[in-house]
Amino acid sequence: MEKLLEKLNESQREAVVYTDGPQLVIAGAGSGKTRVLTFKIAHLLQMGLKPWNILALTFTNKAAKEMKTRIGDLVGHEHSKRLFMGTFHSIFSRILRAEAHHIGFSSNFTIYDETDSRSLIKTICKEMKLDDKLYKPAMVHSRISMAKNHFILPDAYAANSELMLRDSRERLPAIHKVYAAYMQRCRLANAMDFDDLLVLTYRLFTEHEEVRKDYAQRFQYVLVDEYQDTNHVQQLIVTQLTKEHRHICVVGDDAQSIYGFRGADIDNILDFQQQFPETRLFKLEQNYRSTQNIVNAANSLISHNQRQIKKDVFSQNDEGEKLILKPVYSDKEEALVVCNDIKRLKKTEDGEYSDFAILYRTNSQSRSFEEELRRQSIPYRIYGGLSFYQRKEIKDIIAYFRLAMNTDDEEAFKRIVNYPARGIGDTTLGKITMAAQNNGVSCWDILSQPTRFQLDVNKGTWTKLLNFRDLVNGFVAQLDKLDAYELGMKIIKESGIQADLYGASDADSLSRQENLQEFVGGLKEFVEIRREEGNEDEVFLSNYLQEVSLLSDLDSEGDDESRVVLMTVHSAKGLEFPTVFVVGLEENIFPSPRSTDSPRQLEEERRLLYVAITRAEKHCILTCAKNRFRFGRMEFDTPSRFIRDIDPSLLNVQNPMADLSAQRLERRLHQDDVPTSRYNSGWGEMVDGEKRFGNPRFLNSKPVASQFMADPIPNPARPRQPEKAVDPL
Ligand code: ATP
Ligand code: MG
Repeated sequence: MEKLLEKLNESQREAVVYTDGPQLVIAGAGSGKTRVLTFKIAHLLQMGLKPWNILALTFTNKAAKEMKTRIGDLVGHEHSKRLFMGTFHSIFSRILRAEAHHIGFSSNFTIYDETDSRSLIKTICKEMKLDDKLYKPAMVHSRISMAKNHFILPDAYAANSELMLRDSRERLPAIHKVYAAYMQRCRLANAMDFDDLLVLTYRLFTEHEEVRKDYAQRFQYVLVDEYQDTNHVQQLIVTQLTKEHRHICVVGDDAQSIYGFRGADIDNILDFQQQFPETRLFKLEQNYRSTQNIVNAANSLISHNQRQIKKDVFSQNDEGEKLILKPVYSDKEEALVVCNDIKRLKKTEDGEYSDFAILYRTNSQSRSFEEELRRQSIPYRIYGGLSFYQRKEIKDIIAYFRLAMNTDDEEAFKRIVNYPARGIGDTTLGKITMAAQNNGVSCWDILSQPTRFQLDVNKGTWTKLLNFRDLVNGFVAQLDKLDAYELGMKIIKESGIQADLYGASDADSLSRQENLQEFVGGLKEFVEIRREEGNEDEVFLSNYLQEVSLLSDLDSEGDDESRVVLMTVHSAKGLEFPTVFVVGLEENIFPSPRSTDSPRQLEEERRLLYVAITRAEKHCILTCAKNRFRFGRMEFDTPSRFIRDIDPSLLNVQNPMADLSAQRLERRLHQDDVPTSRYNSGWGEMVDGEKRFGNPRFLNSKPVASQFMADPIPNPARPRQPEKAVDPL
């Protein structure tokens, strides 16, 4: 036990050993919050608490896995194995499966992802004859999701004059009706969306006291990481589980609250002390991750936010180099500069590719980096974007899996009833969904009880429908008999998917075939790993689906190869890398254009940049481009206002053109057909281009200009060449 505590500083140790009651650990980035949670769990196990009595909620499944491994290393893997550890969604979906009958679902419910939810909303709006230009599925879904996360159910929504007024002002008065229909349809389909996994858990515990008590007794200690990004319902559930024993420990950093747009509530941290008045507050102030310069620069940025809990974060690591800002001419050049830096630093620091992360505000920014990384043969991995499981061919297969597990799943049904093509058209599908609606049953019921529900289709169509039904029933019959791999293969073959994907040999089809192979490989591995671990009863398709449905963008599996990581800042939460590039620091990107009218949202954007910078251990390099190809055209951008918030004495502005070899420069200039003077002059000296390319706000703003000018120190590693390396301003 002594040994364990030796690896912590004084304040961390106090936070770990305190077990007398509710505990809130508020601390800046990199100060060891996650480490405290990890060590606290290890400590609780050493004190004799059983692993299954500990519930730890993390932000991603990957974080849970890593924490589990770490705890295993500290106290032995036989203890860590049976911990209840995972995201809110994965833990509570497991509980919901066990208790589904209490709330009108059956335990084989399937999970709707974002695409399914939007597709269902689209169908509902169409049925209600709502204007699809006004009622955009993504927007309607985000309103429904927001309501759910605040635990406002359809009736309460309709009774909420503020929400109703807003909707009618925006000419969307029927949202509450869509919401009610959506809930009802999900129930008929025996499906839950991501928000339901929380909302229904809360309802389960509220309406079934004996169930709540059971779990509250089971989870004798509850711990939550990244508490600043929990939403209202999550907070309610945590309270439901701990209000008697009050063994709860939450850790978070208000300065890193970045999911407000999704309903996370920064006030949860403040409310915590109201929920649990006897809470003991712990603060950690020493950052162990980053150099002093990085910590100080991040502090100077965040000090511009009004809403925050005061903290003094400091680092005793090396002073390190300053933050580096590299203003570049275009998005292409941005990618080139970043890739060159990666190669250079990898050599000078004797590092790995996985030491580098490229963080951007939105997924669409990844494209130019991908191109350049590929061109330079630098291995990389992208997190997020169109994830593997969102690809069409993979979603199709998974829809078969889902329908086999839960034949009432409407979205899965719609997706595959005519895939591969079997002559069942949209008109027929429309008739089926209408009949299902009219009778208050699922689409599958219409097919499986033909005598009860008359369907107005001709005989030929009926035969096709019945063939489809028998095909799926054939899979259902094998659910408990074959393992996920065997049944998966059967489905892929017998459904006709394999023949469909292998029917063509163009480049697209080849890539789909590769994806299919990768998918099958994953399925096989899933089964093998469970067998190796001795979990013979968890090798079935339902187990596989449970896992796959909850994977998020943030959970992409890593392989052993060392690669540069590309991800959004949102996904980078909690992670750390020796070198971090924060790219696209321009107005209209970072801060995002939607945030600039609202001081509150602007503060969230600033926190987002704080998160980005604090991921860096040694080097933090910011870039902003003057021209960027976006939405099919060239746009001219001004540097982000946040650059001005960083203490100028901690920011080193470098002209990246000095990094490019003359030869390469020549080639690119030639390629892009841009006059040399424009490159060499840098920003602000573009005499002829001022009107076209200039950016008055940036130039006129004294603080930024002087900040850039105030950079007298040339990069020592790379002496500036006077004719090329002109100060950017
Ligand atoms: P974030 O706010 O980004 O989630 P955090 O507060 O959770 O950060 P950790 O990830 O736990 O911080 O710690 C940051 C880094 O510092 C990790 O690499 C961790 O191992 C290291 N660290 C923390 N405390 C100590 C310590 N006492 N001794 C050595 N290393 C430490
Ligand atoms: Mg952390």
